[in-house]
Amino acid sequence: MLKIKRVPTVVSNYQKDEAADESVGCGRNCLGACCINGARLPLYACKNLEKSREKIVVSHEAEEPPVAFLESLVLGEWEDRFQRGLFRYDVTACETKVIPGKYGFVAQLNEGRHLKKRPTEFRVDKVLQSFDGSKFNFTKVGQEELLFQFEAGEDGQVQFFPCMPLDPENSFSVVAINVSPIEYGHVLLIPRVLDCLPQRIDHKSLLLAVHMAAEAANPYFRLGYNSLGAFATINHLHFQAYYLAMPFPLERAPTKKMITTVSGVKISELLNYPVRSLLFEGGSSMQDLSDTVSDACVCLQNNNIPFNILIADCGRQIFVMPQCYAEKQALGEVSPEVLETQVNPAVWEISGHMVLKRKEDYEGASEENAWRLLAEASLSEERFKEVNTLIFEAIGCSDQEEDLEGTIVHQQIPNGGVNQKSNRIHGGPITNGTASECIVLQ
Ligand SMILES: [Zn+2]
Repeated sequence: MLKIKRVPTVVSNYQKDEAADESVGCGRNCLGACCINGARLPLYACKNLEKSREKIVVSHEAEEPPVAFLESLVLGEWEDRFQRGLFRYDVTACETKVIPGKYGFVAQLNEGRHLKKRPTEFRVDKVLQSFDGSKFNFTKVGQEELLFQFEAGEDGQVQFFPCMPLDPENSFSVVAINVSPIEYGHVLLIPRVLDCLPQRIDHKSLLLAVHMAAEAANPYFRLGYNSLGAFATINHLHFQAYYLAMPFPLERAPTKKMITTVSGVKISELLNYPVRSLLFEGGSSMQDLSDTVSDACVCLQNNNIPFNILIADCGRQIFVMPQCYAEKQALGEVSPEVLETQVNPAVWEISGHMVLKRKEDYEGASEENAWRLLAEASLSEERFKEVNTLIFEAIGCSDQEEDLEGTIVHQQIPNGGVNQKSNRIHGGPITNGTASECIVLQ
């Protein structure tokens, strides 16, 4: 059993009080049986993506408000909590810069995020661990940290109820603030919060996260996921999300197509990126795409391989990044200079948003340093191949490898929106581009 000292990031103001009094009306206005009676929260039921697609065909009415409603809800409620002083520090005061170079890594100096250190023993060698109600979990957050209930609606239209009772019988999902934000609008999506699910991908929950990305309708709003062993610090199922108004380097990496599933989901590997990763896109529906990614993640979980997920391009692109940083760290195989930065390469760092804790690392930030740090998290080429074989077996594509005819797609996103596709390997044909293959940022 590998164990390392880990300092968890405090994501809720109630995480600090471990010995809480659980008597009736515990005084913290939490989500437990003590406080939930009579509690209310806005409910946002997003439109059924399939139905809304049909609807567009038959109706030419402009039903969409000019600004995506979900975006104004997230940011409006987030701003309200900011004004109420619920965050541990002012993230808008954190310095951020784009690291010069061709990859566009983003560095942020965030000295507040890891203050008040309370070291705990955190088991890093098991991706699946059962839920432990005695540890901090999201049923213990204060209701003021919750922004709204979120559900995948049945209807072709968005439904919004400003004041909906929290019904413990109806396992609702919530969007909450992360009290240690790394960007403006940093929130948590907690699927079926009262079901107390451990941090583990299941098909229904990933689809809910993909729905949220689609519903936000803004390519700068991404959702991320860290498995246990890949820097999740709370074993209670949650996704993170925030706005970053620039492309992540991960999104800009060229890709090489590996296989296409029977449902049309295209799986590519990233080229020329420090962390070997897979990109899933396409498919006949958002559910096909989400289900394929879930199959892959369930496979990783069952094989005890830690991983991160980035849901980008309004849910049309999903990156899966298996990683081994914590394992290497526990085995003493991470280089000392990288370790000294104390940066944990979780989903945002791996996507290229480097949240740095030390001023000297921020001031001396360079592409080489970012690359060196992220490369420590990557599987070796050989291990990555083995893992891909496992994944392709799990999704029923084991004999469809198209390595020799791989097509490289260069994605160049910023401003000009240039999408240059080339087929440098073996002169294969250029694939027919569809909208879902390109990221177009507004
Ligand atoms: Zn309570």
